[in-house]
Amino acid sequence: MPSVTPAPHRFVVTVDDPGGLIQDLSLFERTRRFLDAEGVPASFMVVPRGDGGWQLDRQPEWLEALHSAERDGHDCQLHGLDHANCEFGPIPDLIRTLDGTDAEAGFRSDSEQFGHMWRPEAYYEKLQTAMAIFERAFERRPLVFRTGALSQTPELYDVMADAGMRYASNLITDPRGWAYIVERYDDPGDWDPAVPPGPHRLTDQIINLPIISEYAWYLTEAKIPRHLALAIDDLERVFAAGGVFVLVCHVQCVGAEDGLSRKLLHQLLQVARQDFGVEFGTLAALVQGIERGDVSLFTP
Ligand SMILES: [Zn+2]
Repeated sequence: MPSVTPAPHRFVVTVDDPGGLIQDLSLFERTRRFLDAEGVPASFMVVPRGDGGWQLDRQPEWLEALHSAERDGHDCQLHGLDHANCEFGPIPDLIRTLDGTDAEAGFRSDSEQFGHMWRPEAYYEKLQTAMAIFERAFERRPLVFRTGALSQTPELYDVMADAGMRYASNLITDPRGWAYIVERYDDPGDWDPAVPPGPHRLTDQIINLPIISEYAWYLTEAKIPRHLALAIDDLERVFAAGGVFVLVCHVQCVGAEDGLSRKLLHQLLQVARQDFGVEFGTLAALVQGIERGDVSLFTP
């Protein structure tokens, strides 16, 4: 009988916002030291440009830090251009309402300010600019694109294809992570039925690597047990469905001095290792798995 090796449970840590949005290198360094101590490779979702004329390819200390991370098994992918002003479309309600903004009023105000830029030509120009900065920084193109605050309209995916990008990581499977952030524990909703817990086609040419959820955003000691329980519940469900656990966390939280995000993540990574025998890997490795046919795509 041919022996069949079961597919590994894949766990991908993605860390958003280093670079143009969170320019404080010490937050990145502390995040990296934490991941190295855990023995977990991560994908850093790097913002190529930001306030004060900041631009990644002109920041020698950042380039050195990111190249060093890549040499040690992490990888870097592309996160927006300026990570501002709804640059690739409106941002999802669950993110817009984090600061207490009313969803409808916020959408109206964003549309009035930025709606005239929500068109393919503007997306194309911004994506090309972002990719060119990335390419100068890393001497290669990014494989995966995630927009800042997940701003998007469907046209973005045709623009990505025109620009030669094939992978997005831009939709959320379990919005409850964000309900938990605003302490809506009683009525957090459930998984988004439109977003499967693993790679799937968004269009003929674009594959989405969905984010399962965020559990470690600005925590308090009191919040940790509930957020951790949600994460473990998701781990179980994702692997039962044959999916891939793509975690999103943020450098400003994981690298924060208070250590609370690291405390939750340490426990989550330990459960993932011990109870689920996961294989940690980067987005680049996940893309490679898809292209080799080792990771199958969800079909709607
Ligand atoms: Zn971000």
